[in-house]
Amino acid sequence: MDDVERVREKVDIVSLISEYLPLKKTGSHFKALCPFHSEKTPSFIVSPERQIWRCFGCSVGGDCFSFLMQYEHIEFPEALRMLAKRAGVTLAEGKMQTEISSKKEKFYKLNKLALDFYHYILMQHNAGRRALSYLFKTRSIKEQVAKTFKLGFAPGIGNALTQYLIKKKNIEPLLLVEAGLSMQRSGQTLDFFQNRIIFPLHDHRGNVIGFSGRVFDEKDTVVSKYVNTKETMVYHKGDVFFGLHLAKDAIKKAGNALIMEGEFDVLSSFQEGITNAIAIKGTAFTEFQANLLSRFTSTVILCLDEDKAGYEALKRSLPVLEKKGLTIKAVKTTDTKDPDEAVRKDSAEFKKAVSHAVSVYDYLLEKTLSDFDYKTVDGKKAISDTLLPILSDIENEIIKEHYFRLLARSLETSYENILKQADKLKSKQDILETVALIKKKRPREQVLEEYFLALLFQHVKEKSLFEQYSSKFGDIVFSIPSHKKLFEHLVTYFGQDDAFDSGKFTSFLPSELLTTFDTCLLFPLPSLLTSELFEREMRMVVRELSLLSIRTQIKVLGEKIKEAEATHGEEVLEKLKEQHAQLVSRMATYN
Ligand code: ZN
Repeated sequence: MDDVERVREKVDIVSLISEYLPLKKTGSHFKALCPFHSEKTPSFIVSPERQIWRCFGCSVGGDCFSFLMQYEHIEFPEALRMLAKRAGVTLAEGKMQTEISSKKEKFYKLNKLALDFYHYILMQHNAGRRALSYLFKTRSIKEQVAKTFKLGFAPGIGNALTQYLIKKKNIEPLLLVEAGLSMQRSGQTLDFFQNRIIFPLHDHRGNVIGFSGRVFDEKDTVVSKYVNTKETMVYHKGDVFFGLHLAKDAIKKAGNALIMEGEFDVLSSFQEGITNAIAIKGTAFTEFQANLLSRFTSTVILCLDEDKAGYEALKRSLPVLEKKGLTIKAVKTTDTKDPDEAVRKDSAEFKKAVSHAVSVYDYLLEKTLSDFDYKTVDGKKAISDTLLPILSDIENEIIKEHYFRLLARSLETSYENILKQADKLKSKQDILETVALIKKKRPREQVLEEYFLALLFQHVKEKSLFEQYSSKFGDIVFSIPSHKKLFEHLVTYFGQDDAFDSGKFTSFLPSELLTTFDTCLLFPLPSLLTSELFEREMRMVVRELSLLSIRTQIKVLGEKIKEAEATHGEEVLEKLKEQHAQLVSRMATYN
């Protein structure tokens, strides 16, 4: 047995996944809300029997390794190491291990070398003196905080980091370009970041994935204020929070995360003892960020900039956060432009504002009502146009009604009118959503066949029960070859065995049918399937599938008949018409 098999044998998939998600037992499976897409009813299924998982919402699935790889965004070697450690399996150190040390990990190591270099230049080298004085004096950052966050400085001479990594660390120039640390300009390899203060960006596990570089000469107006690492194998814009690796424990402890816009907001808060703050580093929350954050807390407190951009970012973040079921609050600060300024002005006052954070909808209602004149017609229109789309997205109906009523009162109109106007907006949205859904929809017979096989594999555990039904399967013709084969294997199985056992069944199953089998075995059937309900479902699906099969055959025959009529094949025509009549009478038996 090799390492992978030894680890797989020892890891129980249910206990592994339940460390990440709350699993609920339903029948012989476990269910949860899928961590890989947003949903309200669980379609993420784990099978202890087969030691696999599958999401029927976003069609992903696999074993313990693939779960960890997707959940933690890691490569196979790292997943193997983590699970081996967990299972107490010592991996055979050898050529294999060093060879599979993945490219991602190479990038993490390179980024760490760059981080140490930048940090050294800022804290100790002459070249970093002006940047350091900017941080300490102009921005009031304390030395300890600069060290904790490993702030750095990228010198302006153009190739300091590149030369250091090539000459002192023997790194290939091309690899540096690929990792986003260097760039090629007219035949030369130069530093990507030049003359900028460096904020390292980590993933939540503490790997260095990239950097954000900021100019500090305010007169430096020709270049953009912030530059981030370009997309690499480990850095994806929109996936990252600044400071999450340091804040995650404080977030868990506080029961909430403070969401800010920029690095300085987080640094200033941190040095005043506010350790559960992170920066979104973008204009609005992405679905990935909402998923990631929901692993640490169920409440987010938005402290975005008090300007138009901050307000827009807040509005655009709401649907994503609502969809994830997070509680969303907002902090009301008075006459400061961002949390950085607010904390530095009066940290006690800011902490008080945070502890008095209100529901984000109260915040928006108050703000929008003060932005427009609600006494005028134009004002009423502007206010309802701004707020209704946002309030309509609230997942909890009771809370939604609460805000609809508040809005009605503020605009001096009736609750019914608010509902009507919201419905108008909603029907526009619904059409868009339905179009998107239809595009994704799979053919009906494919889903029905899967459902039929799922009923058999999940509920027909005895030969006698199988035989009781199988006489009714005569008209079913599978449209998917793997479904057909799987069914034939089941018939063969019950020809030899009295009780169904998935282990025994799969040991005789060709490997190309395993995925189809797993899909059917885990297919989310209605829960509490009593024997009466099961019988009803079975009758329904057999009827539907039989009718579909007969209709397809009639269609094919119809075309053949036309053909025969054109070529005057009398004898053939006679036979075809006979078959046609038979099928039509078969169909009648189902009505
Ligand atoms: Zn999913």
